[in-house]
Amino acid sequence: MAKLVEQYIDIAKKRNPGEPEFHQTIEEVLTSLEPVLEANPQYIEAGILERLIEPERMVTFRVPWVDDEGKVQVNRGFRVQFNSAIGPYKGGLRFAPSVYSGVVKFLGFEQIFKNSLTGLPIGGGKGGADFDPTGKSDAEIMRFCQSFMTELYRHIGPETDIPAGDLGVGAREIGYMFGQYKRLVNEYSGVLTGKGIPYGGLQGRTEATGYGIVFFAREMLAHFGETLENKTVAVSGFGNVAWGTVAKLNELGAKVITISGPDGYVYDEDGVSGEKIDYMLELRASGKNIVEPYAKKFKSAKFFKGEKPWGVKADLYIPCATQNEIHIEDAKKMVENGCRYLCEGANMPTTNEALQFLHDNKVVIGPSKAANAGGVACSCIEMGQNAGHTVFTPAQVYEQLEQIMINIHKQAAEASAKYGYDYDLVKGANIAGFLRVAEAMMAQGIV
Ligand code: GLU
Repeated sequence: MAKLVEQYIDIAKKRNPGEPEFHQTIEEVLTSLEPVLEANPQYIEAGILERLIEPERMVTFRVPWVDDEGKVQVNRGFRVQFNSAIGPYKGGLRFAPSVYSGVVKFLGFEQIFKNSLTGLPIGGGKGGADFDPTGKSDAEIMRFCQSFMTELYRHIGPETDIPAGDLGVGAREIGYMFGQYKRLVNEYSGVLTGKGIPYGGLQGRTEATGYGIVFFAREMLAHFGETLENKTVAVSGFGNVAWGTVAKLNELGAKVITISGPDGYVYDEDGVSGEKIDYMLELRASGKNIVEPYAKKFKSAKFFKGEKPWGVKADLYIPCATQNEIHIEDAKKMVENGCRYLCEGANMPTTNEALQFLHDNKVVIGPSKAANAGGVACSCIEMGQNAGHTVFTPAQVYEQLEQIMINIHKQAAEASAKYGYDYDLVKGANIAGFLRVAEAMMAQGIV
């Protein structure tokens, strides 16, 4: 079976040259499916894997816009519609200079399994542009979003493909894109999620990803009879995901000692709590993409320029910045510091080599496609709210979110045990996510 899986990985590498992030997720997911394929030869016969690794559709487009100096700028936009076996394509849009086809495909592929794990009817998609929002004026952001949507609108729709936010795309960008879509299509629908509350957004969506991550971490610890109370936690990032994570960790009695940005990390010995959590929002809104001002404002904090927080001693590590922020050297430091739990908030924050090292050293890992699924799950609830022309209360949303996260953990743990991996949530999440999609693909014929 290992040989066959190798062949599929080779096909993906040959067909998508120069896209290491995409190769990385293919390798990570497919190798964990070996025992499933062994037990289900019908999947091989039906070409499930060959079909799964090839996006159903991908569009690349020009995004021209005019900056504040009157100069013409051109970016490249993307949308991958990866798999629609269990529902319309669903997944965020990322605006960052690092966005290219390999990043979009890796995110889209991960999204298939993540969305499946939620148990909700959403397929996998993702998109974005190589646009850097750092330092852009509000008017520039609006012009860019409008131009981006002027092409994207023809590929999406509330029953076809429902984008949302990701890095660099928050409520403001969603608002501009929603306005432009509505103008172009003359339809008021739930075509985007993560909208503002006054125009169809879901109360609780903003914090959903972070809250969900903490619920997932709580379940991981509970498996070993532990709680988050008084645990020290090293968090990376300072954006929306990190913010929700830090807020919920505080609520559950844990102490957050770090946050980070592209400029370095902040170590706060008194903990990131109270007004400091609100200050994270100010940092984000500044548009400067740096965390150093935190250490200038709060005496208990120290700033470490150009460094990541993985060298600090903590009970639990929660990366919430971006992909591949934990390399093998970081993993080694974490193990030296007695790390026992890693719960991934960002998408694919750990390299495959680091994952293997952590696993071999008995670190319990909550993989991102399970742990951060609370965001997209609440996006699907937002779709339901819009389609039903109704409004849900935050209490209704939080309750569903918590149940969904408990269920994702349970599915991953059970699938892992069933296929001989003991308590390996990385493998279990891949397997549980895959099985639902594979069954749906089997039922729908060769499409
Ligand atoms: N970008 C988020 C993710 O990685 C959310 C996607 C969504 O809400 O559609 O899952």
